[in-house]
Amino acid sequence: MVLDITAAQGAMTGARYIESLRDGREVWMDGVRIDDIPSHPAFSGIVNELARIYDLQHSGETQDQMTFVSPESGNHCSVSWLLPRTEEDLKRKRRNSEVWTRESWGQLGRAPDVLAPYIISLYKSRDRLSSVKHPKCDFGENVANYHRYCMENDLFLTHALGDPQVDRSEQPQNEQRAKREEDLALHVVEETSEGIIITGGKQLATAAPISNETYVSLSATFTQRSDPKFVLAFSIPTNSPGMKILCREPVSLWNGSYGHPLGMPYDEQDCMLFFENVLVPWDRVFMLYESAPLLRDFSAGINFTEWANLCRIHERMKLMTAVATMIAEAIGVLDYREVAAKIGEMATYTEMWRHAMDGVEHGAQMGEGGVMSLGSMSGMNIYFAQTSSRMIQILREVSGAGLIMQPSENDLANPELRPYLERYMRGKGVDAEYKSRLYRLAHDLAVSSSGMRQEVYEYWHGGDPNRNRINLLRGFDQTDIRGRIEDLVSRPLPHG
Ligand SMILES: Cc1cc2nc3c(=O)[nH]c(=O)nc-3n(C[C@H](O)[C@H](O)[C@H](O)COP(=O)(O)OP(=O)(O)OC[C@H]3O[C@@H](n4cnc5c(N)ncnc54)[C@H](O)[C@@H]3O)c2cc1C
Repeated sequence: MVLDITAAQGAMTGARYIESLRDGREVWMDGVRIDDIPSHPAFSGIVNELARIYDLQHSGETQDQMTFVSPESGNHCSVSWLLPRTEEDLKRKRRNSEVWTRESWGQLGRAPDVLAPYIISLYKSRDRLSSVKHPKCDFGENVANYHRYCMENDLFLTHALGDPQVDRSEQPQNEQRAKREEDLALHVVEETSEGIIITGGKQLATAAPISNETYVSLSATFTQRSDPKFVLAFSIPTNSPGMKILCREPVSLWNGSYGHPLGMPYDEQDCMLFFENVLVPWDRVFMLYESAPLLRDFSAGINFTEWANLCRIHERMKLMTAVATMIAEAIGVLDYREVAAKIGEMATYTEMWRHAMDGVEHGAQMGEGGVMSLGSMSGMNIYFAQTSSRMIQILREVSGAGLIMQPSENDLANPELRPYLERYMRGKGVDAEYKSRLYRLAHDLAVSSSGMRQEVYEYWHGGDPNRNRINLLRGFDQTDIRGRIEDLVSRPLPHG
């Protein structure tokens, strides 16, 4: 059984994407099941925005930047799914992710170019996956076929890696825990001729209600299981029977048109997933009962999803720095030494990130499975988890109370109020409307529920930063410097 691509149409269009979400998926919000995702007010902003960007795959210059022609089908396919064989291919992937992140202001942690590197990373490891034998399927072949299927249909994936946050002292976070597993974690209930039947929960999956499929696996934290039936990796359609998606409170609901320039169009949602006897067909299973091949892939590379995240974070850093600069200009504080130094600190982080991206590109090499990989990006996820909150704090310090004290669109439209607003709420050489809209953007980065959700996201999405720091340290090669220090401290100092 091979995932069929005969009807595949290649790069997604906006209209096809919107229609693909009307498939009976079981999405819950605030106690109510949602009938139609694209028209629901919590989703229409993000869905229309993604549809707009998908359409760029079919027009002019961006079509060249975002698609390539599949040799097998002749379809124009998204560069997100291109298997990079040359340095030129990697540059194309960088450009593709730059388009996605530029168009979405670096606000989407799960834009459609984000999960493709995960699947490509599995594709690279396909021989290793195949070395684990199972009578019902070949895991490496499954991954290769699945990659082809996603590429030819330009599917939008999300992923779910962690166990529900119920009692971490009894879960894999605690390396000293008793050697047993709790049934609330996702596990295999039985094998049938069609596939595996699974039950359990996952915390969490961003963009689940607006994506086509969910890739389910284990993060580095959760891979070490004492019971093999808890070790599994697979991908299934979002409308799979038995899969419930529970949304958090949306940050996109707002009546004013420009009050939340980021929250309105870019609320990608975060969800719990509940699986109740869900069938995963054999051709969609990528690993079962054996964690070793998965563990090898938990380098910082796969966790950090290559260009998609690197470009997104760069865009976000540029955005935060520019908004701080423009606000400082708009209230006449940019020439104060302390203010300029603080924004200069933001520029420093942004520049360091750009240099690191260039370094990662410079370190690219042919990897496992005949596919090019970017150079090491170890530590970069930790770096941004640290610097993002610092940059947001500087934005708050530069902006002052204007961050919360701005007139709304309707205030500005009221002729009785407007003269007061122009007199008391204008800025230095800018009118009240410009200043208000600029500050609204800063508010959506640093204060609103959308901005705060994003900040929480930046801290956690690459995995627990403390865990990542520990893992980085455990693999950090200090042999040379340690040897020289030991030498230094074990021989007499030269006479001075
Ligand atoms: C907005 C957002 C979006 C996300 N999107 C996704 C997604 O799309 N897909 C996905 O798979 N995941 C996603 N995540 C989950 C993310 O990967 C996790 O939040 C992260 O791995 C940390 O796990 P946790 O939240 O369960 O925290 P926990 O592991 O429960 O940690 C809670 C606290 O306990 C501490 N702690 C835990 N274990 C130990 C220990 N053994 N010793 C000492 N201290 C400990 C931690 O440091 C932390 O302070 C998302 C998270 C957020 C916030």
